[in-house]
Amino acid sequence: DFAGYDLIVVGSGFFGLTVAERAASQPGKKVLILERRSHIGGNAYSEQEPETGIEVHSYGAHLFHTSNKRVWDYVNQFADFTDYQHRVFAKVGEQVYSFPMNLALINQFFGKSHSPDEARELIAKQASEFDTDAAQNLEEKAISLIGRPLYEAFIRGYNAKQWQTDPKNLAANIITRLPVRYTFSNRYFNDTYEGLPVDGYTAWLEKMADHPNIEVRLDVDYFDVREQIPAGTPTVYTGPLDRYFDYSAGRLGWRTLDFEREVVPTGDYQGTAVMNYNDADVPFTRIHEFRHFHPERDYPKDKTVIVREYSRFADENDEPYYPINTPENREMLERYRELAKNEARERNVVFGGRLGTYKYLDMHMAIGSALTVFDNKIGPHLADGAPLDGSLDV
Ligand code: FAD
Ligand code: UDP
Repeated sequence: DFAGYDLIVVGSGFFGLTVAERAASQPGKKVLILERRSHIGGNAYSEQEPETGIEVHSYGAHLFHTSNKRVWDYVNQFADFTDYQHRVFAKVGEQVYSFPMNLALINQFFGKSHSPDEARELIAKQASEFDTDAAQNLEEKAISLIGRPLYEAFIRGYNAKQWQTDPKNLAANIITRLPVRYTFSNRYFNDTYEGLPVDGYTAWLEKMADHPNIEVRLDVDYFDVREQIPAGTPTVYTGPLDRYFDYSAGRLGWRTLDFEREVVPTGDYQGTAVMNYNDADVPFTRIHEFRHFHPERDYPKDKTVIVREYSRFADENDEPYYPINTPENREMLERYRELAKNEARERNVVFGGRLGTYKYLDMHMAIGSALTVFDNKIGPHLADGAPLDGSLDV
């Protein structure tokens, strides 16, 4: 039965859960969450590896970080956070480097110590081949920032594996996720707040849904029940945008990941949570060792869980993980955005989240965006029937 709900939320990831929680906390509003999988939480879901009890993030490692005070205060209502700080190391040839690119990496790579000024001068010289502002694609942008030697060692091979797309055909902004620092600082994120949920991701996600006005139905695909939902029921859809429109403007391209999990008979496999493998001839992109996300926990000392990550194009049966930022996909996305606008006007359906907007959103961005969409559209609609259309954040 799908009648009697003030809001239907399709998908129980952070976007859907945030909207549902906000709506449910308005007096008397009833929310129904439909989730295709047999668990809530979307890709942030985690589970205990049965042999070791080590928490493994089932859809890839998830690190929470944000500089948005509102988001930080909001998430702290549902979870306590550890003081975990993410650091990444990168293996090239027989060497392990401290990542992202920083003075330690530069000194080790060029076999000589440099002061910050000397390192700047060295990289500026190597980077002069392209002008950053004029860079047209990922390769030019990367070389304009770090020069060719570092690009070839740390970026080219990794990108070839991660995207299997010619870097000349990838948008330049992918690389802005990777800063270059002329200090020895190797924190991966620059954000004000960072940590991992003390009791794990799943406890956090369940707490968000734990409200008398929220009902969650698992193992329900929206498209199997859509006809049974009363017409015009306000709906927030966080599934794949192109699927909603039966791929009428074509299939948006996605990358998926294969995770190869192994329990290894040692208390410590690699000494850190994540090791990138930057060489093109190693088939995986990185190895996560999950015990290192929670050094405060009492995990077994004779076993550890590692997960090798492989990246490839998603076909229709694969989990879509990363949108592919190519001109063809961006064009298709424009057409879907137009369709989405109509859908809001005609059927009260609002699109949101990573799949619903075809945008790579970190968790804090999905939550922040959901809070904004709630404030600007869904809240006013539930309060006094304000129309759900208007400028859409898709
Ligand atoms: P999702 O979590 O994808 O949730 C969408 C939900 O909708 C899913 O549960 C899906 O089953 C459901 N659904 C889809 N279609 C239907 C349907 N037809 N009917 C019913 N249900 C449906 N973010 C970070 O901040 N830090 C990280 O370190 C980080 N690492 C990541 C690593 C990987 C490999 C990936 C893929 C993402 C990572 N993220 C990370 C991003 C994070 O996963 C997203 O920000 C978050 O999942 C977004 O939430 P969402 O609700 O938009 O989407
Ligand atoms: N990247 C790279 N070399 C690395 C790590 C990352 O070239 O060793 C590039 C690559 O384009 C990748 C992007 O930086 O897609 C973002 O990487 P990050 O690990 O931060 O993102 P994630 O895959 O965890 O979302």
